[in-house]
Amino acid sequence: MVPALRYLVGACGRARGLFAGGSPGACGFASGRPRPLCGGSRSASTSSFDIVIVGGGIVGLASARALILRHPSLSIGVLEKEKDLAVHQTGHNSGVIHSGIYYKPESLKAKLCVQGAALLYEYCQQKGISYKQCGKLIVAVEQEEIPRLQALYEKGLQNGVPGLRLIQQEDIKKKEPYCRGLMAIDCPHTGIVDYRQVALSFAQDFQEAGGSVLTNFEVKGIEMAKESPSRSIDAE
Ligand SMILES: Cc1cc2nc3c(=O)[nH]c(=O)nc-3n(C[C@H](O)[C@H](O)[C@H](O)COP(=O)(O)OP(=O)(O)OC[C@H]3O[C@@H](n4cnc5c(N)ncnc54)[C@H](O)[C@@H]3O)c2cc1C
Repeated sequence: MVPALRYLVGACGRARGLFAGGSPGACGFASGRPRPLCGGSRSASTSSFDIVIVGGGIVGLASARALILRHPSLSIGVLEKEKDLAVHQTGHNSGVIHSGIYYKPESLKAKLCVQGAALLYEYCQQKGISYKQCGKLIVAVEQEEIPRLQALYEKGLQNGVPGLRLIQQEDIKKKEPYCRGLMAIDCPHTGIVDYRQVALSFAQDFQEAGGSVLTNFEVKGIEMAKESPSRSIDAE
């Protein structure tokens, strides 16, 4: 069962888009669904979606993409208050594709991070998004840090992080000539990517699958529908 949040009851005073059933709008959305007409100035939206996702950062866009690929018959909208997508945290992070070494073994975070990194590399390759799998060295510079480094290495192995190696002083220097340390974890699965680019690609996938993205659309209030309207999948 997918929860259905149906009505955006005039709460979005700054909405630029209006959902229309006619010809495709300037954004090139797939046909057969409500779609935003980009660039138009409209007073309020009274259309409905089966699901709306508030926030066009990477989390919202990845969720929207995953949902529409699994449930293509649902009408799904992403509402973003800014004029562009992914301009907040997603567009201002360090761009690291984390390997998943730090998380508690068996935790969801550990599983998601290890699996997510592999999926992200695959996705970037498919879509031609630039990334660099540059790897990372986690270095113990004091003797007393070595047991903690070894424990971290064991954790990484338990989490299934690929390619981990414990390396000694001379190998650290070979890999990173300016790095000094007693022992290091060589973590070749770590990389870097522009997450905004990834997020925009998710948005494109979502729109190509029929989803609607509305920018300049700040959600200021949410109301739960009292009953399932006729098109709700709960009622089907
Ligand atoms: C300093 C720093 C460095 C980081 N480095 C990394 C890293 O190297 N690797 C990594 O994987 N992660 C990193 N992260 C974490 C990562 O950036 C976040 O987990 C991720 O970007 C969160 O995405 P999000 O979509 O939840 O948030 P956001 O990208 O902030 O998206 C939220 C969106 O919701 C919109 N919004 C908010 N309220 C409303 C509303 N009422 N109506 C409509 N829209 C609304 C906002 O405008 C925004 O676009 C870092 C985080 C920080 C702070």
